[in-house]
Amino acid sequence: DRAPLPSRRPRQDANIPRAMRPLRLALVASELAPFAKTGGLADVLLGLGRWLGKKAPQGPGHDVRLFVPLYRRIEKSGLKTTPLPGAQNIDVRFPQRTIRFSIRTAPLPQSDVVVHFVDCKELFDREGIYTEDGDEALRFGLLSRAVPETCQRLQWAPDVVHCNDWHTGLLPLYLKTVYAWDKLFAGTKTVLTIHNIGYQGLFPDSQLDVLGLGDQRAHVHHGDLRDGKLSFLKTGVLHAHRLTTVSRTYAREIQTAEYGMGMDELLRSRSQDLVGIVNGVDYGEWDPQTDPRIPHHFTVDDLSGKAKMKAAMLQRFSLPHDPRAPVFGVVSRLTAQKGFELFADSIPVFLQREDMRLCVLGSGEDKHEKYFQWLRDTWPHKVGIFRGFQEDLAHWIEAGSDLFLMPSRFEPCGLNQMYSLRYGTPPIVRRTGGLADTVEAWDPHTRRGTGFLFDEYSSKALAGTIDWALRNWRDQLGWRQLVKNGMQRDFSWNRQGPEYLALYRALLGL
Ligand code: ADP
Repeated sequence: DRAPLPSRRPRQDANIPRAMRPLRLALVASELAPFAKTGGLADVLLGLGRWLGKKAPQGPGHDVRLFVPLYRRIEKSGLKTTPLPGAQNIDVRFPQRTIRFSIRTAPLPQSDVVVHFVDCKELFDREGIYTEDGDEALRFGLLSRAVPETCQRLQWAPDVVHCNDWHTGLLPLYLKTVYAWDKLFAGTKTVLTIHNIGYQGLFPDSQLDVLGLGDQRAHVHHGDLRDGKLSFLKTGVLHAHRLTTVSRTYAREIQTAEYGMGMDELLRSRSQDLVGIVNGVDYGEWDPQTDPRIPHHFTVDDLSGKAKMKAAMLQRFSLPHDPRAPVFGVVSRLTAQKGFELFADSIPVFLQREDMRLCVLGSGEDKHEKYFQWLRDTWPHKVGIFRGFQEDLAHWIEAGSDLFLMPSRFEPCGLNQMYSLRYGTPPIVRRTGGLADTVEAWDPHTRRGTGFLFDEYSSKALAGTIDWALRNWRDQLGWRQLVKNGMQRDFSWNRQGPEYLALYRALLGL
């Protein structure tokens, strides 16, 4: 490797008290809204990045740099990016091949934060964000290495490198090994946030050689190695200075065999370093009063726009409109995690019995898509479905529905239930993960609460709760209060962001 470069820490902050000084933060992920998104991870990076980069009243914001791959879909979107001087044509040597990348930048919309797109056609100029290609491990291995490589070129010493999910799981180990010689990173701390333990980045252990970690076998999970495997996420859990996940309940749950997906023992061994921080909501994007993606706006004091949204949405789904018929909304990845298998023995009963509507937006596993199509074919005047990913329709459904369905088997945090609360659409959720932390059971007597919860993962429990929700729907006065309660809850980054900042500062001893 190259000879060590003299490392300089910028002196700009010499006069600022240590505890106040802006931090240099590198946030790294495979997704970032609005550029590349398949789920909540993208929204979280956008919201947290914006919040951290915001100018504080008494001084500058933190120096935040977001690192994400420059996927083909971003290039094709027409986004204007500029080459970052000093970070062009960087060669990263892996044992079997050398990979060249450059950094191109663009501002994160409505913020002072700069996105560092890792431009590497060889690996990222592909159809999808995620692939099943043979070099998937290398694609995200490169993303991890691109961060320290870029920092070196810029002589920018990050205080914290904040990694997210398995795609960035190798970064802490790379910093400890391949880049250990470089004093630039002497004070750098790493944080790994687990957004979903269902995705671990499992590869054959032969990938260690491909990734340049062949001589680090002692530092990856031994049990996996015995099985001939390498887990990106476990490697991250082993080596990051601090671990977070996206709700308090999920932080507890993943340390149990039921929810840990094989990682519970490892997580228990690091339980002192693991905290749950609920995701914030970016109300700049998700607020029914200002949302540019919906045609009718509304507030907690004037819900007339919501009634109009209901009519407009039903029209879009080609369903007949009746203000008295409750509309259930679903916006989701259609995967096993989301609990739609519970619909099979519950939803048809209600569709048969009730004058209701069900509007679904989602894509994913074939069997779920087919099931929703079957519902549509069987009750064409009650069920509407859009397959695929449509950002604006997601906003329409949040705004135009009366109830939001999210019966997840597990849910690290979940954003949709928080969006639905804001849009006056009480959620029906299972009491798990972030759903348990963000939805409070409605009690018609005290008139407290924001939604409807069930515990047992069964169709019966879901059906019972839908039934209960429908009984409450008939009491429109109570319903109004329920809607108001939810709309007034605050899950903004102004509340959640400081928890991350406190964690960074504690980690840095500031
Ligand atoms: P997850 O990250 O597990 O998918 P979350 O509730 O945390 O679940 O976040 C899902 C995000 O993805 C939300 O912003 C939601 O609106 C969006 N989303 C999911 N499916 C679709 C879809 N088919 N079309 C548009 N947006 C979608």
